[in-house]
Amino acid sequence: MKKEYETVIGLEVHVELATKTKIFCGCSTEFGAKPNTHTCPVCTGMPGSLPVLNKKVVEYAMSVGLAANCGINQFCKFDRKNYFYPDNPQNYQISQLYLPICHDGYIPIDTPAGEKKIRIHEIHMEEDAGKLIHDEWEDCSLVDYNRSGVPLIEIVSEPDMRSADEVIAYLERLRLLVQYLGASDCKLQEGSMRADVNLSVREVGSETFGTRTEMKNLNSFKAIARAIDGERARQIELLEEGRKVIQETRRWDDNKEYSYAMRSKEDAKDYRYFPDPDLPPVCISDEWLESVRAALPELQPEKMARYQSEYGLSEYDSRILTESKKMADMFEKTTTLCQKPKKVANWLIGEASRLLKEKGEDAESLWFSPIHLAQLTDLVDAGTINNNTAKEVFTAIFEQDVDPSAYVDAHGLGMVNDDSALEQAVSDVLAANPKTVEEYNSGKTKVLGFLVGQVMKAMKGKANPGKVNEMMTEKLNA
Ligand code: ADP
Ligand code: MG
Ligand code: ZN
Repeated sequence: MKKEYETVIGLEVHVELATKTKIFCGCSTEFGAKPNTHTCPVCTGMPGSLPVLNKKVVEYAMSVGLAANCGINQFCKFDRKNYFYPDNPQNYQISQLYLPICHDGYIPIDTPAGEKKIRIHEIHMEEDAGKLIHDEWEDCSLVDYNRSGVPLIEIVSEPDMRSADEVIAYLERLRLLVQYLGASDCKLQEGSMRADVNLSVREVGSETFGTRTEMKNLNSFKAIARAIDGERARQIELLEEGRKVIQETRRWDDNKEYSYAMRSKEDAKDYRYFPDPDLPPVCISDEWLESVRAALPELQPEKMARYQSEYGLSEYDSRILTESKKMADMFEKTTTLCQKPKKVANWLIGEASRLLKEKGEDAESLWFSPIHLAQLTDLVDAGTINNNTAKEVFTAIFEQDVDPSAYVDAHGLGMVNDDSALEQAVSDVLAANPKTVEEYNSGKTKVLGFLVGQVMKAMKGKANPGKVNEMMTEKLNA
């Protein structure tokens, strides 16, 4: 009989915090600067330089921990993780091993079988390394220390996930939570969120875990899903052949859809961890902890509930609007300006989502000004433009953030409400379609739609359709 296997997955997620400066020095954390321009003796590991902890890092770490239902270690410490690598100028990384800032939390995810809690083992603070650039043309490697010392938190889950779907659901919940807290933008492509996947397989029914591998180099949710399926298949094949899975770190190659051994799995003892002698322990007073708790913003579940009770939106619409912080902000700012929540929701859920999908982008890349969307809803309400024209104007706002009134004027898109012009157009259409008029008179009243359509066409879509309808009916019945 063929054996059945279960996949067991635990994640180690690194998130770069949105502080202005690095974790132990005053250098800027800005992404994309010229190489080695955001550096100083501390973050390049010069002898005699001393680290000073950035308070904001501790606050962000606490807020993520509280939002993820963790306990906070009000007395926590930094440790040195010793290893040599050219992107690590001190030859050690300052991290937390013995007393991490947060412990024992969980993040709930939705699964087909209902809600499931993915437990969090711990969250600790640490510093990022520099970046190596391998120049194949010059046959050399270059190092950029701008990222060295950028603050990270590492969120370590328990091995509670059983499929790629559960992993993606967990990562999406976690990302949303961190984005709502403003602790990071969590861009996988830019590396501000990075997930290492620990995976093992075991026979269904087995109580003990199998040997795991750890996969690195995953920079999109799709790559993560492919890596999970690929590595599961590789491990099952080994076991089926009567061989053993070796505990090691592997690099996922998303083009070849296969993982390659990078190094044998290191143990904590290999790093010769010891408490960092340059940094005093962090003591978090009750007052400080409570002030961080009190300052936690409204998170997605609460926001979703409020949209339903306060604005009367459906559960579905509220979910779509709140599943991106950017979209929710856009919705709230626009609604404050124009007081038309349903219409604003329709623009964002309808046209904005459609255009984003067309471009293969997500809601985080929305960038137009809420003032312009508010003005657009006002123009439609005032009867200045009709719905069709409004769609065209919305596209222009979405793409170039145009001022809608100016755009309507410049392109002559204003709705024609001028009665004499409309009457002329209606008469012309009636004169040009005697057969249709006859049909109407003999009782086929549904041809009215066709006649109104002809007038709209003649007016290049800018007529007020309600008004045309009225005039047309009046003339036909006269
Ligand atoms: P280490 O300190 O060696 O990295 P940890 O115990 O901290 O090991 O675990 C690292 C990650 O691996 C955690 O996210 C954990 O959930 C996951 N993990 C541990 N054992 C297994 C296993 N047998 N299968 C899958 N994941 C595992
Ligand atoms: Mg680890
Ligand atoms: Zn520095």
